[in-house]
Amino acid sequence: MTDTNSPEPKTYKKYVPKPEGMNLELHLAAVSTGLLNVQHCLDCDTYRHPPRWYCPNCHSGNYEFVPVSGRGEIYSMAINHFTIDRAWIDELPYVTAVVQLEEGPRIVGDLKGAAPEDVELGDKVQVHVEARGEEFSYLVVELLGRD
Ligand SMILES: [Zn+2]
Repeated sequence: MTDTNSPEPKTYKKYVPKPEGMNLELHLAAVSTGLLNVQHCLDCDTYRHPPRWYCPNCHSGNYEFVPVSGRGEIYSMAINHFTIDRAWIDELPYVTAVVQLEEGPRIVGDLKGAAPEDVELGDKVQVHVEARGEEFSYLVVELLGRD
């Protein structure tokens, strides 16, 4: 029998950012393709991230957002044992990983499916995007293993 006097457990929704400008372009590209996208210089063929108006290599303002492999390795990471956002409490402890992509740029994502003690710098990973609505994509890092 259900106790109708006990309160329902409170649930908290994770905050979904509202990107603008060039960051919105990036997220729309990711949501529409379901793939990790980065900025690509149309004049010198280099990839860059996060988005910026001019190429740091050739100073060109001509760019496009293109899907990339999402393959890379862990360049750096932080193990989070505390959060001020109640929506993340069930995730603790979790790893925020900086991934060195095969294409060159580094991205930051949330590592899922592995305990923090099982993760080392240099581990091979695959980055996926998870749409959160129509204008924001969340980056999830999947641990593949090490050489
Ligand atoms: Zn360039």
